[in-house]
Amino acid sequence: MAFWKFTLASLWLVLLTLSQPGLAKNHLEIDGLESVVDVTPYLHVLEDPKREFTADDLRDGLFNARFEPLYRGAANYGFSRSDWWVRFTVKNSGAKADKVTFKLDYPLLDYVDVWVLSGKEQVQSWETGNRRPFGSRPIRHRDFLFPLTLAAGEQQTVYMRVRTEGPVNIGLSLYDQHTLLPKIELEYMAFGAYFGGFLLLALCISLLYLVDRHLAFLYYLTYILSYSSYMMAFNGLAFQYLWPDAPEFGQISRPVLLTLSIIFLLQFSRSLLGIKRLSPFLHRAVTSLQLILVPILLSVPFIGYGNLVMPLAVLNLMALGLVLAMGIVAHIRGEAAARYYLMAWSVFLVGLLLYLLKVFGLLPHNFITHYGFQVGSFFEFIFLSAALGVRVKQLRHQSHIDPLTGLANRRHFDEELEAEFDFSARPEADLSLLVIDVDNFKKFNDEFGHAIGDQVLRELGRIFKTRIRRPGAAYRYGGEEFAVLLPRTGSEEAVILAERLRDHVAMDMAHKKVSISVGVVSRRDDNFASASDFFDAGDEALYRAKDRGRDCVAVHRRDAAPKPDPTGDVDGALA
Ligand code: GH3
Ligand code: MG
Ligand code: MG
Repeated sequence: MAFWKFTLASLWLVLLTLSQPGLAKNHLEIDGLESVVDVTPYLHVLEDPKREFTADDLRDGLFNARFEPLYRGAANYGFSRSDWWVRFTVKNSGAKADKVTFKLDYPLLDYVDVWVLSGKEQVQSWETGNRRPFGSRPIRHRDFLFPLTLAAGEQQTVYMRVRTEGPVNIGLSLYDQHTLLPKIELEYMAFGAYFGGFLLLALCISLLYLVDRHLAFLYYLTYILSYSSYMMAFNGLAFQYLWPDAPEFGQISRPVLLTLSIIFLLQFSRSLLGIKRLSPFLHRAVTSLQLILVPILLSVPFIGYGNLVMPLAVLNLMALGLVLAMGIVAHIRGEAAARYYLMAWSVFLVGLLLYLLKVFGLLPHNFITHYGFQVGSFFEFIFLSAALGVRVKQLRHQSHIDPLTGLANRRHFDEELEAEFDFSARPEADLSLLVIDVDNFKKFNDEFGHAIGDQVLRELGRIFKTRIRRPGAAYRYGGEEFAVLLPRTGSEEAVILAERLRDHVAMDMAHKKVSISVGVVSRRDDNFASASDFFDAGDEALYRAKDRGRDCVAVHRRDAAPKPDPTGDVDGALA
């Protein structure tokens, strides 16, 4: 019993120390300040729900007494309509004057007002924030930076008032002059690589779209562009470089870009995973969500960001749910691209979760929680590109396969015939071709029905597949016609194989009285001008096999006349 009491008591103590880093310390001494100091332990906070306090109250004792030391690890308060005041005191205990800069880590705060008091005297003040032009910042930077100059022995108190429609995040740190610049350089270089990566990806995908014309590329491109633009707005970079004098536009740009990227993401995912075929229900759900998002998107300029934050957050969560559902359904249905797709979302979600927990004040503000979201989304795009690659390869494969027989189709045959014909121009590389047609198949269909006819075609496909060895290959040329390409095979060998195939079909399918006729042609038989000449010769031989009574093999003859045109328009008849 005592043991349990002891364990619980120690656990309680541990929790207590974890949740309360201690009372806020009185003031921050900057003599010999090294690199960077987290200001959080020195912060005192005041929530002003009625927005009643102003700069006039700064010297008021009662006002100052209302501040409370920050007990929690971070000044993150989620969405709040209150004014949030923070206060901290800095003392230069050194013998020389000193310059430091304090930095507010979160760039998305609407109004940030700062007053600096030395004793009772106000020495500095700034009115800035995301809703004011970029030029209102004392230092032109995506985050808020404020310079302080302290004489030897001087003590200054900084008051900051934050009012914002988005989440309230007040992460403050103090930098000495020599640390800030290299840190900012490194940060901007990392951003350059990050957005440069997006730019390269967008260029590659544009090229692929121009070559391939597959819509998934186009949707992916729109997603990359809208998402990376959103990221630029989210980081404060778009405000700094693209619209520094249009804070209201900047305010609208974020929800608009986010909503746009979600609409495109849904579209891309659906196309990538072939959701229409896999799950009509999810397909309809995506359409519905897109139809809700579009009017919201159009209404942002009129209704304003603040009123749409919550509905958009809910809809975004639903979109995320749909995105995951699509990935899971596609994965269960054996869609090869789905594995990479799900990996993409796992890394993204971990990053997003860390970030959201920070925004809502449940995790401290640090590099991992702040940038996890962006790093996660970078890996997300790498995995999504892999998923797209898998999908395109699969579609290309499918576009070469005949779904009924599983043999390669006419398109593939044409490509292969062309390539093999060119290759067989070398004296050592012969090439033979069998052109095969099912006998009296129309009658067969009429007698047994189309479904049984299909079954016969499938059966023939199976026979050809098992009887023809590499490098030979069988193709469904069209309807009930097949072709067999036999590289490095001369006429004699080709005739033997043709006879064997005809024999197999006649025996295997004797019960259905199915037979085939075969025309055989080899490259060395004649001087063929082109691959299509070569094919026509095989077709002509097939025609003679039919003429001879079907269920037989005929070989191309050098003197063979071209096959008569079945439509009856004899060449030259009009001349
Ligand atoms: P022949 O011996 O002269 O080749 O006679 P045939 O009846 O086979 O010749 P024709 O080319 O005139 O007819 C081909 C028939 O093949 C017409 C069509 O009903 C049938 N056919 C074509 N494609 C398919 C298919 O995918 N499934 C089924 N069941 N029948 C098909
Ligand atoms: Mg035919
Ligand atoms: Mg036929």
